Amino acid sequence: MATSTVYLPSEIQQEIYPDLNRFGDVVLSRKVLDWVADSEKNLPYLKTWDTFGKRRDELITSEGWRNLQDLGIEEGIVAIPFENKHKEFSRVHQFIKYHLWTASNSSVTCPSAMTDGAARFLSRQMESPSLSPELRPILQSAYTRLTSRSPSKAWTSGQWMTERPGGSDVSFTETLATPSASPTSAKSIDGSPLGSWSINGFKWFSSATDAQMTILLARTPEGKLSTFFAPMRRTTDGAETELNGVTIQRLKNKLGTKSLPTAELVVKDMRAHLMGEAGNGIREISTILNITRVHNSVTAVGSWGRGLAIKRAFARVRKVAGGRRLVDMPSHIAVMARDEVEYRGWMHLSFFTVLLLGISEQGSGSAKGHGKGVDAALVPDAKDVPKLLRVLTPVLKAGSAKACITGLQECVEGLGGVGYLENEEMDLNVAKLYRDSNVLSIWEGTTETLSWDLVKILKGRSGNDVLEALARWIGGAKIGFDVQSRWEQWAANVREKSEDELIIDGREVLLELARVVGAALLEIDARRDGDEVAKEVAKRWLAGPSDWKAQGAGSLKERVRMNSKISFGEAPSDAVSKLNRVSQATNSKLSRAEYALSKYESKIIPVIATSKDGEVLQSPRSSLRDKDGMRLSSHFVSAYIVGLAAAVGQLPSQCKSSVLSFNSANAVALAGCTELGYRCDDKVVQINSTNEAIPANCTHYLYNVTVDGDIKGPLGIPGMTEVSSITINGTVAAGSTGDFATVYSSNITSLDLPDLENVTSSFVISAVHSLSSLNVPKLKNVSGRLDIDVSGSPIKLSFPSLSYARVIMLSGNIDAIEFPSLSETLQLHVSTTGKLDCTAFVEKMSKAVNTHSQAILCAADFSETTTASSSPAPTDTGNSVRFEIRGGLLALAVLMACMLAL
Ligand SMILES: Cc1cc2nc3c(=O)[nH]c(=O)nc-3n(C[C@H](O)[C@H](O)[C@H](O)COP(=O)(O)OP(=O)(O)OC[C@H]3O[C@@H](n4cnc5c(N)ncnc54)[C@H](O)[C@@H]3O)c2cc1C
Repeated sequence: MATSTVYLPSEIQQEIYPDLNRFGDVVLSRKVLDWVADSEKNLPYLKTWDTFGKRRDELITSEGWRNLQDLGIEEGIVAIPFENKHKEFSRVHQFIKYHLWTASNSSVTCPSAMTDGAARFLSRQMESPSLSPELRPILQSAYTRLTSRSPSKAWTSGQWMTERPGGSDVSFTETLATPSASPTSAKSIDGSPLGSWSINGFKWFSSATDAQMTILLARTPEGKLSTFFAPMRRTTDGAETELNGVTIQRLKNKLGTKSLPTAELVVKDMRAHLMGEAGNGIREISTILNITRVHNSVTAVGSWGRGLAIKRAFARVRKVAGGRRLVDMPSHIAVMARDEVEYRGWMHLSFFTVLLLGISEQGSGSAKGHGKGVDAALVPDAKDVPKLLRVLTPVLKAGSAKACITGLQECVEGLGGVGYLENEEMDLNVAKLYRDSNVLSIWEGTTETLSWDLVKILKGRSGNDVLEALARWIGGAKIGFDVQSRWEQWAANVREKSEDELIIDGREVLLELARVVGAALLEIDARRDGDEVAKEVAKRWLAGPSDWKAQGAGSLKERVRMNSKISFGEAPSDAVSKLNRVSQATNSKLSRAEYALSKYESKIIPVIATSKDGEVLQSPRSSLRDKDGMRLSSHFVSAYIVGLAAAVGQLPSQCKSSVLSFNSANAVALAGCTELGYRCDDKVVQINSTNEAIPANCTHYLYNVTVDGDIKGPLGIPGMTEVSSITINGTVAAGSTGDFATVYSSNITSLDLPDLENVTSSFVISAVHSLSSLNVPKLKNVSGRLDIDVSGSPIKLSFPSLSYARVIMLSGNIDAIEFPSLSETLQLHVSTTGKLDCTAFVEKMSKAVNTHSQAILCAADFSETTTASSSPAPTDTGNSVRFEIRGGLLALAVLMACMLAL
C-alpha cells in the first residue's frame, strides 16, 4: 500500500481528528440545526426609526443566526490558520473543519470568509516597515479581535467593494475619501482612535452588515482608488454607541442566503484609516479576495457534499418502478456516479489550492522543505507556490461554484417533489442548499470576470512564468500520457492565441485547466494504492461529465457495479457495510475522528488519510473502496442445499476470492470456504483445521457471501459460522438490455443458516419476494446492518440468539418479529404490510433494548406514519456512536419517517 498521505501528514490527522469528530457531531446536532431553522424563519429586519422619529438603523438578526456566528468563532473557523499550529497545513485543517460546517451554518461563513480575509489583510499591513506607529496598535487591536475565539470579544468584518455602477469592475467606484476637515473625539468601540479620512458615498451590497469593522474601496480627491479600514460603530462617551457614519438604506430581498443580512449602505462621514498607499486599492484588497474565493470554493464543495449525502440516503429508501429502491435503479446510480466524479475532482482542486495557500502564508523562510509528510508529487517548488496559487484561485472559485450549482440541482431533482420543498428539517433541506448556492458564482467574482482574470494572468507580464510553474508541477507529478497530452494542448493553445482570442473562450480555457490539474491530482491519489475506483474516477473526470461514452465501459452489469462503487462505495444494497468496516477498523486502529468523518456523509472529504504504518485506512475516500462489495452475479441456480462436509478437502479456486457468490455449480465448495479460508498476514489461504495446525499469524478469513440469481425453492448453508457479510438479492433478468430493463428478483422460498453466529459486517436480504422462512437460530451478532426487505410472502421473523445488530431495518409483509435476546442496537426501523402489531412491538422492544436514545420506528402500513418512540429524544452528547446515526444514517432515519408519512 502506498504510504503517502494526501494534503495532511498522518501525525496531524491524528492530532486534529478528535476535534473534527466532535465537531462532526455538533454540525448535525439538533441544537445547531434548530438554529439554522430559526435563522431561516426569522429573517433579519431593520428598525429604521425609534418611537420618537429618531433614526436608529438597528439591524435585528435572529437568535439562531447569532448563535451560529458565535459557534463559528468559538470553533476557530477563522482563528485556526492564524493560530498557525500546523504551519503550512493549518489552512488544510481550517478548511476540513469549514467543510463540515458549511451546510449547517446558514451562511455565517459569508462574514467569516471576509473576516478571514480582513485578518490576513491587516496582518500583511502590520508586516510593512512603513506602517506608522500610530496605526500599528489600531490594526493590532482589530486583528486580535478578528482572530479571537471569544464571541464576546471577537469582531467580524465586512468588505465593501460593489457599487451601483459595477461590482465586477471596481474602477467605477464613486465613493469618495477626503482628509477630514475636523478632528473627532469619538473613538472606535475598541477604544482606538478613528481615522482621519472621511468617507462619503453609497455601497450597493454589504453582506456583513452586522460586522464590527469593514475594509472598503474609495477614491481619494486625486481619483486614486484606495483601500480603507473603518470600524462600524463609534462612541463618544464609551457607553452609548452609534454607527460610524453609516445608514442602512434597506435590506436586500434575495433568492437565497436569506438569513444573511445583505444591505445597501449610505456612507456619510465615515471615519476611516487609509491602508497602504493611495492608488493601490485593488492590489491591497486582492489579499482579501484571494482568501474569500477559497472560502467560496469550499462552501461550494461542502454544500454539494451534503446534498449528495442526502440524495444517497434518499436513494436507499425510496421505492420506485413497482417497488425497486432508487439505489437499485441503474440510471439513477449512473447520474449519481457522474456527479460524484465531479464532486471528487473539485474536492481535490479545493484542497490542493488550500494547501498552496497554507504554504504561501508561511513566508519565504520556510519555503524550503515545506510540505513534508504529504506526497512529494503534490508539492511544487517553493518559488512556484505563489504563481500556482494565483492562477488556480480564480479557476477553482469559478469552476467549483458552477459545478456545485449544477450538482445541487441534481440533488434537488433526485429527491423528486420532496427535494423541491422547503423542508423544516434542515438536515434534509436540499432546496435551501441549492437556493443558497446560486450566489456562489456571483459574489467574489462572476464566472466571466474570473475567466477574464485568468486570461489576464496568462497573457500578462508574468504569464510565461506562470505557465512554466504549471509545467514544472505537472512534470514533477509524473502523470500519465492522457493528462500530459491534454496539458500540452492547453498550454500550446494559450501560448498561440492572443489575449482577445482567449478571452472569447475564457470559460473553456478556465475549465480545461481545472480538468487537467484535477486529473493530475486524482491520478496522484489513485496511484497511492492502485484502487480501481479511484482510477476510474480519474479517467472519467478527465473525460468530463458530458462525455457519456466515458461514463463506464464493459457490460451492463460492470457499469452498474462501477457506478455503484463510485457513488455508494459498494454495491447498492450493501451500502451501509462500509460503515461497519469503518466501525471495526475504529476499534482496532482508527481514530474516532476519522471514523466520524467517514461516517459523515460517507465521503465528504475524499483524500486525507493513511495510517502511520502506511496502510490505507478507512478514510472517507478509502472507505469508498469496497473491493469486496460485489453484489451482482451472473449465476442462475435452482434450489440447492449446501453441505459443508462434502466440501472439505475439495476447495476450489473460488475460495481465493473475498466474495463467495453462490450458484448451483459451486455452492458446496463455497460453503467449505467459509470455514477453511484463513488470512495469514496479507495473504488468504486455505487451511483445513481438522488436520492442520493454525499458524499464529493466521485468523479466520471472513468472506462476503452473495446469493443471487434465480435460485428457486429452499436454500440452506450449514456449517457456515462466521462471515463478513451476507447479501441476498435478485439479479439482472436474463436477456435484459439497457438500464431500464434490469430486473431484480429471486425465488428463494426459505433460507436456513443453522450454524451462523457472527456477521462482522452487514446481513442484507432484498428483492427476495418469495421468502417465507428465515432460520438463523444461532445468530448472535451483526456488527453492521441487518436489513431485510421481503415484500412478497407473509413472513414471521425470529432471531432467537441475536443480542446485537448495529442497525436493524426490516420491511415487507411481516406478520411477527421476535428478538428475545436483543440488548443493543443503534437503529431499529420496521415497516410492515403484514399483521405485525407495531404498537406492541415498539413497547416491548423499548423496554428491552438499548437504542442509545434513538427512537424505535415501526410503521404498520406504508400509507400511514406509525412511528413510536419510547426512548428520550436524541441529545447532543458528542458521542461518536451517536454520530454515526446522526451523520451517516440520521438522514436515512428521518427520510424513512418522511417516506412513511407520504
Ligand atoms: C447576496 C449578495 C451579497 C453580496 N455581498 C457583497 C458584499 O458584502 N460586498 C461587496 O462588495 N459585494 C457584495 N456583493 C456584490 C457582488 O460581489 C457583485 O454582485 C458581483 O461582483 C457582480 O457585480 P455586479 O452585480 O455589479 O454585476 P456586473 O459586474 O454588472 O455583472 C453583470 C454581468 O456582466 C458580466 N461581466 C462583468 N464584467 C465582465 C467582463 N469583463 N467580461 C465579460 N462579462 C463580464 C458578469 O459576469 C455578469 O454576468 C454581493 C452580491 C450578492 C448577490
